[in-house]
Amino acid sequence: MKRSFTPILFAIATLAFLHVHAAEPEWKAGLATIKITPETPVPMAGYASRVKPYERVEQEIYAKALALEDREGHRAVLVTTDLLGLPRAVAEPICKRVQDKTSLARSQILLNSAHTHSAPTLRVNDDTESGIAPEDRTNIVAYTQILQDKLVTVITQALGRLEPAQVSWGSGVAHIAMNRREFTLTGVILGVNPRGPVDRTVPVLRVDSSDGTLRAVLFGYACHNTTLTQTNYYLCGDYAGFAQAYVQEQNPDAQAMFMIGCGGDANPYPRGTMQNARDNGATLGKEVCRVLETTLKPLRGPLTCVFDEVSLPLQSYDRAELEKMTNGPSWQSGNAKAMLAKLNRGEKLRQTYEAPVAVWQFGTNLTLVGLAGEVVVDYVLLLEDAIGPLQLWTTGYCNDVFGYFPSARVLNQGGYECRGLYTEPGFFASAAQDILVAKVRELAKRAGRKLPE
Ligand SMILES: [Zn+2]
Repeated sequence: MKRSFTPILFAIATLAFLHVHAAEPEWKAGLATIKITPETPVPMAGYASRVKPYERVEQEIYAKALALEDREGHRAVLVTTDLLGLPRAVAEPICKRVQDKTSLARSQILLNSAHTHSAPTLRVNDDTESGIAPEDRTNIVAYTQILQDKLVTVITQALGRLEPAQVSWGSGVAHIAMNRREFTLTGVILGVNPRGPVDRTVPVLRVDSSDGTLRAVLFGYACHNTTLTQTNYYLCGDYAGFAQAYVQEQNPDAQAMFMIGCGGDANPYPRGTMQNARDNGATLGKEVCRVLETTLKPLRGPLTCVFDEVSLPLQSYDRAELEKMTNGPSWQSGNAKAMLAKLNRGEKLRQTYEAPVAVWQFGTNLTLVGLAGEVVVDYVLLLEDAIGPLQLWTTGYCNDVFGYFPSARVLNQGGYECRGLYTEPGFFASAAQDILVAKVRELAKRAGRKLPE
């Protein structure tokens, strides 16, 4: 009797321990959505030829936040937005305000822009050279301030709603992305290149409440959000907006969020009409819903977020080279003219651009890499080589959308994606590629990812 008593007690204690842990989910998650459709129509971003405000709202646009907290209390907030791109000048004041209001560090905030070209133009200062009427320019600056307030609100709301949750992830495939770098006898043009590389992966992250109810779906796709072209004057989230709407229609109690990947050199195919945008959205949304029904891998903690800036070299040109480039193709001439104008004002040209890089490590299960800028597809493979191909989700358009970020291959070939920065004058140098990849490797190691030799 005495001999068997201790093992029985031990067994009871073990069962109680297991029960507590089975009932206690790995995560807490908080969600918030805020409508960011302007009250007053403003010109749309993305195609320079459009200087008039949009004519009607085809689809409301949103910012959505997902806050996560692991068992040890490490927190992070991911924000997705139906916008062209949040440049540093718009994004950083938002992050500073959130840091002041909460205990979050900069590394724990990730802002992604869906790159819809049917969303409002953003500017913190008036742009007298845009060709846009003064009243509309005033409305753009006013809208941008309202947007910043709303993003601070949506982040703090999500943080205030943390509840026990289970998080899992998997991926599927959608055939929307088309490489757009078409090779012609006169160089690379914006067209269609069916043999060019694209990333058709559809990564899906699923958040369930502790009773298994679906609460949020975060999904990605690496393709320009440009089914709609410069002839469109209807405000809209484009294919990503329609895909989110599709997923939410199928799962009315869940928050569907879209995060764009390395689609700097991919366009949707086909494209051009609102129906194309709806169809592309439905294609992506259906695949997300299919993946949700498959067995997904549970995500474990701890959550480790690291963030740093990397100094990316810009190409140096002398005055004669820049003057020659002003007669070159349009992707080259605009930036060359801006660089010459800067020189003519007696200012120095920048040698580097400081780009933010974010890495979030979820236990041993997943590394989320958030790159800034319009990143071309080559970086998906470059990062797989550098930090290993498994348990990896690489995104672009995060934290600072400053212009295109081409690979050395793309820079060597030329074409639209080589046009450089658009928040200030400058072209990236080929050496920038390996410097960025090395920085991601350094941050992934710091975040605790097991790296290949
Ligand atoms: Zn773009």
